[in-house]
Amino acid sequence: MSKPKNVVYEAANYCIYCGGTEPPLTDEHIVPFSLGGRLIFPKASCVACQKVTRGFNEAIARSMYGRMRIRLNVPTRKPKERPTELSILAIRRDGTEREVMVPAELYPRCYTVFKFKRAGILSDKYPATFDRELRNSSEDMAELVKQGYVQPDEDIGIIEHVRVDAFCEQLAQIGHAHTVAMMGMDSFEPLLPPLILGNDKRYFQLIGGVSKEEAVNTGATVDFINHQGTYFVGCRVGLPDFGWNFPTYQIICGRFADKDAMEAAAAKLKAAADKLKLIDGDEELEGFRIDMAPAE
Ligand SMILES: [Zn+2]
Repeated sequence: MSKPKNVVYEAANYCIYCGGTEPPLTDEHIVPFSLGGRLIFPKASCVACQKVTRGFNEAIARSMYGRMRIRLNVPTRKPKERPTELSILAIRRDGTEREVMVPAELYPRCYTVFKFKRAGILSDKYPATFDRELRNSSEDMAELVKQGYVQPDEDIGIIEHVRVDAFCEQLAQIGHAHTVAMMGMDSFEPLLPPLILGNDKRYFQLIGGVSKEEAVNTGATVDFINHQGTYFVGCRVGLPDFGWNFPTYQIICGRFADKDAMEAAAAKLKAAADKLKLIDGDEELEGFRIDMAPAE
């Protein structure tokens, strides 16, 4: 397998979360490296904001999906520290349980995905609920019995730290960083920084899902959305799959003053996309694809 390339945007030279310009400014991965992201936005975060974003980055990459990343050998910065064994619980009929260490490659594929309704700002009411689905592989479970790690009359328990708040913050960061990298922060009124920095917990106002017809594969598609006369910029995101596809998420990143402002931003976006194509030549971007959908 060839090593995926990084794609580097033009440096921001300001913090895309708080607007600060005090050095040092650090490079941002638009999709975290831990989730396979290869798009880099140089000099785009101040130290204080990086502390905040690192919190939810780690909650997702380590606590929530860490075991899956090990199981599927998703890239890590510290390959030598990656464990070769992971623990599961074998649960007996009487409810007692025992911890069993299994080789990482035999750890059963199993993870939670969230399914969101349309973002509140586009549906005029705050979505009251979301769905949570556990995806797991019965073949992997059967293999553990076959190889004697678990007895046929035992159930298998998996330890997972599910965090919908961190997951939404992570999506908000991807949407915001991607949109700002492509169009600059002065093209639109950014809506996501309070959510990313933990000052607004109404996640589902701006983070939502789309219908099956609007789903995208792995990648980010920038959308210009006209909702009842207000123009928004959104980002549909397909996360790299861990064996099963994630649903497509739609993140509402910002609002335009008027149609002219939206059209000016669309021109900037097109110029940025053309530049990225130049960087990448004719080869397909591995890991993340750039796309655009115009407003109706
Ligand atoms: Zn900052």
